[in-house]
Amino acid sequence: MKRVLLTGATGYIGSHVAVELVNAGYDVIGVDNFSNSTPAVLGGIGKILGKNIDFMEVDCTDANAFAKVFDRYPDIEAAIHFAAYKAVGESVAQPLKYFRNNLHSFENLVELMVTRGKGANIVFSSSATVYGQPALDELPIVEQQPFQEASSPYARTKQMAEGILKDCVNAYPNLNATVLRYFNPIGAHPSALIGELPNGVPNNLVPFITQTAAGIRECLSVFGNDYNTPDGSCIRDYIYVVDLAKAHVKAVDKMLSEGARWNVYNLGTGKGLSVLELVNAFIRATGVELKFRIAERRPGDVEQYWADPSKANCELGWSADTPIEEVLLSAWRWQQGLKG
Ligand code: UDP
Repeated sequence: MKRVLLTGATGYIGSHVAVELVNAGYDVIGVDNFSNSTPAVLGGIGKILGKNIDFMEVDCTDANAFAKVFDRYPDIEAAIHFAAYKAVGESVAQPLKYFRNNLHSFENLVELMVTRGKGANIVFSSSATVYGQPALDELPIVEQQPFQEASSPYARTKQMAEGILKDCVNAYPNLNATVLRYFNPIGAHPSALIGELPNGVPNNLVPFITQTAAGIRECLSVFGNDYNTPDGSCIRDYIYVVDLAKAHVKAVDKMLSEGARWNVYNLGTGKGLSVLELVNAFIRATGVELKFRIAERRPGDVEQYWADPSKANCELGWSADTPIEEVLLSAWRWQQGLKG
């Protein structure tokens, strides 16, 4: 069995990918420093799989501690890098915290994979934020679309890490890389044993919806209904986290079987959904009442974008097609489990 290293393995996306990789027959070594997760996530992963994954508590910015993972696991052939801070607002207030953590951990990973990995295949967890606000005639977004000026230090770390990776692929002949640009991941594992654990008041739409439905928040604010969209609210491409996780397995499969040196893929459904459409889908799917009101636009929000995922569909043999009602129901079940 081939071994895959997951940094940020107990985070929202990392935990779902750990499950899918093991189900696909990979050995996993997960690392995390629990800066935005808890050890209990390992229990959830273990329950789903019926066995625990190998795990080490490591801060990836600490090169010496990180190297110990390679001492213990000299058979690592691929790595997926999730370990990063992701709060856009916080990144604006504390850019250095973001550059130090998100870039330094990534540089350590690339160096260790190139020098110590049995194979040096890296999948980088990127984001649609690298594109900025596309013009209407540029929708849906294709991978060739040039980056715009980063809208936040968080987005800049994603743009910079992609650039670092490209330069390293050019310089180190044993290094292969795949960049996955996520649109809006939502939902939870169908078992409701793992899911998103927002820190404090959620910034993201779906955790805010489920917390409001659960009575933790009083009312959902829909940020703006005067955008240039059919119902006036913003449009995003919401992708089920389990579908997203499966794309990572496909990406690792492809790298290990074909040795593709450099690939970039959009991971989305290809369909845009407005905030109001999503709210209605949640009510339809769960039958739960949801208090919401129209509020001011949120500063910095991009009006609308969605992915053209056809490159990932064709080259990875993957698509994200779980119905939105099923996805929202999974988020709701996870929220209910948290409450209980
Ligand atoms: N949104 C909202 N109310 C909230 C949180 C988000 O109306 O409490 C909207 C937000 O304005 C955006 C969409 O939901 O149009 C998705 O926001 P999210 O923060 O989940 O993801 P983003 O696309 O901003 O990264």
